[in-house]
Amino acid sequence: MNRIVFLGSGGGRTIMFTQVPHTGGIFIELDGKKMIIDPGPGSICNARRIKLDIDGTELILLSHRHVDHATDVNAYLDGLDTGLIAERTSIEEEHVVSPYHLSKAKFVKLVSEGEEIAVPPLKIRTTKCVHTSPAVGFVIEGTKKIGYTSDTVYYDGMERQFDGVDVFIANVLVPHGKTPNVLKHFGVDDVIKTVNSMNVKPKLIVLSHLSMWMLRNNPSEQAFIVKKMTGVRTIPAKDDMVVDLDNLSEHDGKLSKFL
Ligand SMILES: [Zn+2]
Ligand SMILES: [Zn+2]
Repeated sequence: MNRIVFLGSGGGRTIMFTQVPHTGGIFIELDGKKMIIDPGPGSICNARRIKLDIDGTELILLSHRHVDHATDVNAYLDGLDTGLIAERTSIEEEHVVSPYHLSKAKFVKLVSEGEEIAVPPLKIRTTKCVHTSPAVGFVIEGTKKIGYTSDTVYYDGMERQFDGVDVFIANVLVPHGKTPNVLKHFGVDDVIKTVNSMNVKPKLIVLSHLSMWMLRNNPSEQAFIVKKMTGVRTIPAKDDMVVDLDNLSEHDGKLSKFL
């Protein structure tokens, strides 16, 4: 089964502390490999609550040090025999993973932008981010190709990093037509600009890591604007949402018999 399960659809400090919506990261099962990206607070609780089978997860991907992405990394390493691919400074400078848990990991690979790591049968490439701390995004490639921006502002050439992905997961905190006081995050208009500059557009765009600002501006309407402006089917992430990678349909994980 190839699928993406959103163990959280929110992001940023305010949402992280309210846990409405959750910030538990993104679980991916592709070509027989299970992995979790950016497991923030409550990731394991959310997975267990919806009876998602996280046993046998073989890989943790950590894009940067911020708590809404990182707090459950230690807990996953404690419970699982798993590898860790992490943005270098989150470990070397910020020490978000304890020495004990680092020693317990099956393997640890510290990364910066522009690296390619083979995790057979998958290939994982790190992408550039421009954020308040060092960060990387990821492109996960197997029989399907998934792009994850992580937290970043738009930068020139971003479209080349994600050209040709099947599913483009964008961490979007700024609604259409709005300008933040301080430019720190990706917005709906950045998604449109990036996707429209790609040679090969994605088949599905998911707006995730939603901020309070996005939630107050109707995420479904924001997704509709992206779809209208790019021609690509676009959906807002929801807690527990499952995207079936084989047919790119989505459904509510809570009601699913497939978890
Ligand atoms: Zn974040
Ligand atoms: Zn961040």
